[in-house]
Amino acid sequence: MELNDIWQAALGELEVVLSKASFTTWFRGTSLLEIDGENAIVNVPTIFAKKWFEEKYHPNIIKTLRKLTDNKVNKIVYQIGATQVDQPKRIDSFNLIKNKSPLRRSEQSPEFWLRSDYTFKNFVVGPNNRLAYAASLAVAQNPGKSHNPLVIYGGVGLGKTHLMQAIGHEILSSQPELKILYTSCEDFANDFVFSIQSKKADSFKKRYRNVDVILVDDIQFLSRKEGTQEEFFHTFNTLHQRNRQIIMTSDRIPTAIPDLEARLSSRFAWGMVADIQPPNLEMRLAILREKSSGSPIKIDDGALEIIAQNVQNNIRELEGALNRLIAYSQIHQVEITKELTREVLKEIIGQLQGKKSTARKIIQVVLDYYKITKEDLVGKERFQKLVYPRKVAIYLLRNELGMSYPNIGRELQKDHTTAIYSVKTLERELGNNDDLREEITAIRKQIYRED
Ligand code: ADP
Ligand code: MG
Repeated sequence: MELNDIWQAALGELEVVLSKASFTTWFRGTSLLEIDGENAIVNVPTIFAKKWFEEKYHPNIIKTLRKLTDNKVNKIVYQIGATQVDQPKRIDSFNLIKNKSPLRRSEQSPEFWLRSDYTFKNFVVGPNNRLAYAASLAVAQNPGKSHNPLVIYGGVGLGKTHLMQAIGHEILSSQPELKILYTSCEDFANDFVFSIQSKKADSFKKRYRNVDVILVDDIQFLSRKEGTQEEFFHTFNTLHQRNRQIIMTSDRIPTAIPDLEARLSSRFAWGMVADIQPPNLEMRLAILREKSSGSPIKIDDGALEIIAQNVQNNIRELEGALNRLIAYSQIHQVEITKELTREVLKEIIGQLQGKKSTARKIIQVVLDYYKITKEDLVGKERFQKLVYPRKVAIYLLRNELGMSYPNIGRELQKDHTTAIYSVKTLERELGNNDDLREEITAIRKQIYRED
């Protein structure tokens, strides 16, 4: 097996356990250079990446590499910018798990699946998550005895998994004798199906019911899966009757999960159901300070403020923006100033806010170009002067953004059939009207102009 294959397998595993923002920022351009006895050399692109690998990701990387090499690797040296050996060495003595059936999450120790930095210590508490935090802490200190089950719900990237895993870490260190199991609901479902196919229902039951604490991430995944719901129902009952702690996360309040049996959603409300809301500006800034405090370079507070003001949707994106900024300054060897932050953010925000802001922009550019008002655009008067701009706006929303006709209709207060008709007729006209083509080109230029 070649080094490259081992590293690719490792990256595949790491991608699952690390946040996407961290993964794409830090693992791009890395490679496995050498394995010599128990020593491995990993090539990293910058000194900064080296620091983060050593200080932050090492536990995950070593666990993964050990697993893939049958525990041969014990030490990793992170080396900067070494060129890759032309002919990767063959390592035949390793018995790679990759080609066998992979270990499932539930069969591995909790340490592997709990991200090492998802701790209470690293969790910033604010008005948006105070209740969920307090409930989590209570559960961690008194598993099975305070809130059972605990359900944490909220939108994407707001810290549900982090908080849930923090409970896991806390119990792991204060009561190491307790058996903890972390699983995504999706894995639970797959595992269940697999256990039926392979006639191993008993070992499945044993695995999930024989624990003191179970953490089930993203239970909205139960939606419409009748068989899995049934199994989850029994798992839940068994554990709950024995006062075993159950913790779940969901992207919405359980009663709003479509096609979830009432007997489940009502049980989920037996203990505590706590929400996490999107963070306000102050909170976003606090999180950025926390996240950047671990970084080896100092980042100006003004720069953090700019990020906090501009990236508003969720914390994962906030973190992603910070990582990108740091990586940019490292790669280009420039200091992080407010100007640089604005510059780098422009690109990121463009991608993040993507369609929504572009739709607004498209409409604004059309209004400016034809010197009409928003009322004109969404109105019903059929003056020739207005009919054209309306068609152009619809056409661009469709072509530039791939917006659906009903959505375009909603945006411009038109029937969706009108939207379809507009696109069709404009497309036909474009074929034999050079002026119109030029007009559209000019408008497009305005839309994508940097300002
Ligand atoms: P979710 O599971 O709700 O989609 P995650 O738990 O994966 O979100 O969080 C996304 C990212 O945001 C993680 O990197 C996490 O560490 C970070 N994060 C979320 N909330 C906080 C917080 N209150 N303090 C510090 N980091 C946070
Ligand atoms: Mg999550």
